[in-house]
Amino acid sequence: MEKFDVAVVGLGAFGSATVWQAARKGAKVIGFEQFEFGHVHGASHDTSRIVRTSYDAPQYVALAKSAYREWRELEQCAGVKLLTVTGGVVLFTNDRPSSSSSVKATDYTASLEANNVPYELLTAQQAKNRWPQFGLSENADVVYTADTGIAHAAKSVMTMQFMARTHGAVLKENTSVIEVVPLAGPDKGVLVKTAQGTFQANKVVLAADAWTNKLLAPLGVHIPLQIMQEQVTYFKPADPAAFEPGNFPVWIAFTEGKTFYGFPTFGEPTIKAARDSSENLMTPEQRTYAHSPELLHELTTFMGGLVPSHRLESLRTVTCQYAITPDRQFVLGPLENHPDIIVGLGAGHGFKFAPVIGRVMAELAINGKTTEDISNFGIPPSQPSLLQGKL
Ligand SMILES: Cc1cc2nc3c(=O)[nH]c(=O)nc-3n(C[C@H](O)[C@H](O)[C@H](O)COP(=O)(O)OP(=O)(O)OC[C@H]3O[C@@H](n4cnc5c(N)ncnc54)[C@H](O)[C@@H]3O)c2cc1C
Repeated sequence: MEKFDVAVVGLGAFGSATVWQAARKGAKVIGFEQFEFGHVHGASHDTSRIVRTSYDAPQYVALAKSAYREWRELEQCAGVKLLTVTGGVVLFTNDRPSSSSSVKATDYTASLEANNVPYELLTAQQAKNRWPQFGLSENADVVYTADTGIAHAAKSVMTMQFMARTHGAVLKENTSVIEVVPLAGPDKGVLVKTAQGTFQANKVVLAADAWTNKLLAPLGVHIPLQIMQEQVTYFKPADPAAFEPGNFPVWIAFTEGKTFYGFPTFGEPTIKAARDSSENLMTPEQRTYAHSPELLHELTTFMGGLVPSHRLESLRTVTCQYAITPDRQFVLGPLENHPDIIVGLGAGHGFKFAPVIGRVMAELAINGKTTEDISNFGIPPSQPSLLQGKL
């Protein structure tokens, strides 16, 4: 049986980043993907993901700063442009004084300050002066960060897979991992069983997102995850020039109990927008890939208020999948009772971090420790409550 240093289960954004980072460190790496490369069944397909340092907790800001360095490294090594920096705003609409939203502008500004990331805290009027497209309520707070932008999702995943291969990684598509079995004895390591054969590795990284618990169940481990089908809609503005990068930022809006987000035009004269965490609960097996007309109606109504003087036509709606922990915290690290098995899970807001998460996974697998602070990212206790505020 061929032995590897590191085996990675799942080749979405996290797994692809891990095979790249581990292979460039010189490890002998194998990666498994149950579907074909570039598939649309997980969380890492389609055109765009928001990248930003702007977060409500200092730990994520610090990790995002590291992620930007890794994105640049990836772009340079591959000779491919993956990030488009546009600037971005987080809008706190503060519609009701007794807002139940758990997210505050001050959480963002404090976290950015703690990490020396420049930002601007704007009033609604100042924001409207700069972006007259927005129809903001008078008491809104707006946090602007110039480093916010867009990662090309599918292209980034493909690039990381390509770079992993250039460093010698073996990547297998249409190869479902049926079970991972930790070995006892002096050599330790893990068996990775697939329908196409069994492989052995010193360490296994599970980057299986919505499918993670299937692989953990035989090991007696369970992560409290809610799996939901998300959807994003591409709107065609009557006046696309008003929404070009430079004229319009990436935006995230915290409204009463719900979060929406969207983009300037990117690659075509449309603007993509969505609700974060739709609570459209279903397992991967239950997904039909049909979008919810109710969620589309809700989004269209929201967009009508967000950019009130601009006519938008909804062109297409694409579905995607979230696997989120109760507090939207990442899960990063080895299993307590099976330290050769390492989990990497992004809780529905991980894409922007993918290249640094790949490095973290590679460091844990190869060195047994990482230079990044992952102290809050253990397996959470089961408690089903969704908090607003991540993406
Ligand atoms: C609509 C939407 C919008 C988002 N927007 C943003 C954003 O703006 N910014 C941001 O930072 N993040 C965003 N995210 C979150 C981000 O995209 C995800 O956190 C990230 O892509 C997760 O990557 P992953 O590799 O963990 O999961 P996935 O992409 O789902 O990959 C997991 C892979 O594991 C494979 N797999 C599972 N089980 C097995 C097995 N047994 N054998 C072999 N293969 C297996 C699956 O087929 C899959 O390819 C968004 C997500 C969605 C859905």
